Amino acid sequence: MPPFDPIPLPELARTARARRERLAARIGDGVAVLATAPERTRNRDTHYPYRFDSYFYYLTAFPEPEAVVVVVGGASPRHVLFCRARDPERELWDGYRHGPEAARERFGFDEAWPMSELDARMPGLIADRPALYCAIGEDPGWSARVSGWLNEVRAMARTGVAAPATLGEVRVLVDAMRVVKDEQELSIMRRAAAISCDAHRRAMRATRPGRHEFEVEAELLHAFRAAGAQAPAYTSIVAGGANACVLHYVDNASKLAAGELLLVDAGCELDGYASDITRTFPVDGRFSGPQRALYECVLEAQLRAIDAVRPGASWQAPHDAAVAALCAGFVELGLCEGPVERVLESGDYRRFYMHRTGHWLGLDVHDAGDYKRDGQWVALEPGNVTTVEPGCYVRPGDGVPEAFWNIGIRIEDDVVVTATGNEVITADAPKRIDDIEAWMRERS
Ligand code: MG
Ligand code: ZN
Repeated sequence: MPPFDPIPLPELARTARARRERLAARIGDGVAVLATAPERTRNRDTHYPYRFDSYFYYLTAFPEPEAVVVVVGGASPRHVLFCRARDPERELWDGYRHGPEAARERFGFDEAWPMSELDARMPGLIADRPALYCAIGEDPGWSARVSGWLNEVRAMARTGVAAPATLGEVRVLVDAMRVVKDEQELSIMRRAAAISCDAHRRAMRATRPGRHEFEVEAELLHAFRAAGAQAPAYTSIVAGGANACVLHYVDNASKLAAGELLLVDAGCELDGYASDITRTFPVDGRFSGPQRALYECVLEAQLRAIDAVRPGASWQAPHDAAVAALCAGFVELGLCEGPVERVLESGDYRRFYMHRTGHWLGLDVHDAGDYKRDGQWVALEPGNVTTVEPGCYVRPGDGVPEAFWNIGIRIEDDVVVTATGNEVITADAPKRIDDIEAWMRERS
């Protein structure tokens, strides 16, 4: 798959500015401040690949470490960025930096200053403001810094200025925005999804008995990176046979055997946005009878759950649809003792299906946004993106038909809530049995 052209910076910057304006409208005369993520050491003097903070990036599109955004609300709003100063010596070693002057212009800020001026300027920005919104409790160093600014303003009380009386959590305000994606976000997420679909097709073609899970993982990583995705959105799960019954299996070290299924849960991150796909397919390219029966049951549950994704429906509706279908299937296959209503009510199905059916998806793989409000499941609205991922995990045990032992199946798609229903943006990764077997027959 050829790399996509990225969205031009001026467009990203315009959208980010519009988001800051929406945030400003929500904080009244208050001030919001957010830092991006720090660089993190992996060992001695090497770092993990840098990843910005999702909230910070959402409001700025600014990708560099060591940066802080300040949004001043009220009658004369101001958008302020603090970032690393230009430094020819450091840039020779570590690469290009925008620097405050260029950053201000390119990223649509009213003011930009070097990070070294943050502590000197913040007291002035928050003085006489009724409320300060920041990330509370996340990082002790950051909390101490915010306290320092507040104390400095308080120390000036006799000059007639007042410190904010209210401290608020800025991320809660941004969560409510992030959970509804705009067109720009959806277009990036469709591209991320397309790359991940391609990766799953490639993984299916690369799978055969005698290969290792990590060899299949390598195919996924190749497909992500070759198409321009920066990284996997989360650690890929490549789980053959019984390993698929370990929900967060990430060793990916076992050898694959004929007659087993392979569960692959993997998705790329492209330009900050996650995709999240699971496919389960036979190592030798042909489903056995029991595998086929259980797979059809999970697929039916997934299709019904996707059907339940539409505007106005409860967040819980897809989960309920999936569980109902799974229970019917479990009774039919002898995994649970009927009637179906009893299995539903008693929760017996949880022996084989113990997780929930989806999560919000966006900048984070488990994205921002409430699931319940005032004790009620939220209603789905256009622009929401959720995964739909029922599964079935059968460990050997008393009363469990042996034919199903060690079969683990999950089928996961990324679904956008539209004005009239939904759009499955990961449909290009085969999931019907016929389509999977046909695709795998073409292996070299
Ligand atoms: Mg997943
Ligand atoms: Zn997921």
